[in-house]
Amino acid sequence: MELFIPTKIHFANHAISLYKEELARLGSKAMIVTGRTSSKKNGSLKELTDALTSLSIPFLLFDEVEENPSLETIERAVGLAVEEGVDFFIGLGGGSPMDAAKAISLLCKNHPLESQILFTPKELAYYPLVEIPTTSGTGSEVTPYSILTLHAKRTKQGISHKVYPALALVDYKFLKFTSANQLISTCVDALAHLVESYLNSNSNVYNELYAKEGLSIWGGLKEHLLSLEQEPILEDFIYEGFMHASLLAGMAITHTQTSLPHGLSYPLTYEAGISHGKAVAIFLPGYLKVFQNQKRVKQVLSFLGFSSIEDFCKYLEAILGRVNIATSLWEEDCRMLLENPAKLKNFPYPVDSSTLQNIQNFSLLDLS
Ligand code: NAP
Ligand code: FE
Repeated sequence: MELFIPTKIHFANHAISLYKEELARLGSKAMIVTGRTSSKKNGSLKELTDALTSLSIPFLLFDEVEENPSLETIERAVGLAVEEGVDFFIGLGGGSPMDAAKAISLLCKNHPLESQILFTPKELAYYPLVEIPTTSGTGSEVTPYSILTLHAKRTKQGISHKVYPALALVDYKFLKFTSANQLISTCVDALAHLVESYLNSNSNVYNELYAKEGLSIWGGLKEHLLSLEQEPILEDFIYEGFMHASLLAGMAITHTQTSLPHGLSYPLTYEAGISHGKAVAIFLPGYLKVFQNQKRVKQVLSFLGFSSIEDFCKYLEAILGRVNIATSLWEEDCRMLLENPAKLKNFPYPVDSSTLQNIQNFSLLDLS
């Protein structure tokens, strides 16, 4: 058993302004890695630049990170950061900018090595990293993972290195700017992390602690996602709770990694443009069905407050709807996952095409 979650976390209203002094200890010149618009609209970028300015820390803004960041974007940011002598990185936004910041920090520290080193298993140093989440989905502010889009392979892939953020500044108020669809899609990503961590070959009492607590919080709030159309503005405790669930889920998968639903999601996101959380969560009912230890599945359902897999499936369909893809894409998806031993080993039983077909049979995925 190994327990390593080295990130210092501040979870607070105005976390950036309150804990800005921590930034000064990490380096002398920062690069803010963020998306194109949301951090400008939700006020997080202004709060961060004000903090850096008040501390006289020079910074560079890289605001070109797209959803599911590509290797090309990472390389562009590395070129700028190296030229400007940046020595610490701040990922600001959803999982995409936070993951991008990890890869950029590692490549900058090892400049001029090629970006292919991201996918070469070898211990490498990286510059200090701060992560500021504005979605309640990925938990990337505490995980060591960075998932990138590889156009050459027409899919997404996690880098081979573990890049642990030094500091996470978590403030749930930024969630208030997400649309109903974004909130649902990111919240079900956290849900998937909790389920896939609990039902995982690497699961033990320590990740279970995080997963159980996260599942209970998520289950206690689930009804609010059903009524988002009627009540688009939620009370603070709901955003706060989902942010806690996401953070706990990040800690849980830091121990175990994810499993088959995440593995199946990547080609769907790449080829069909389905958002990450939705592409993962549509497979959760099927995952619960094929998991042989049904005693543990019942525990998951009970933490969440569902009486059966069918109830759980109905709930997910109500918030996510169904997804339709071509049969050929599904076949390709299965082929790619069956050739990915790193993902398969996180499922404690043998996996073959009939396992994946059974997952699809109980999923929210239709084929045509
Ligand atoms: P995202 O791709 O970071 O962002 C999705 C969209 O939401 C973007 O359009 C973004 O706008 C917008 N957005 C972000 N915060 C917002 C806010 N507070 N208000 C309004 N809009 C906001 O979404 P994500 O689901 O958080 O991250 C998904 C990525 O994380 C995927 O690449 C996935 O593979 C990865 N992931 C990583 C881990 C891990 O452990 N590292 C785990 C799971 C998933 P802008 O583009 O304008 O910012
Ligand atoms: Fe995820």
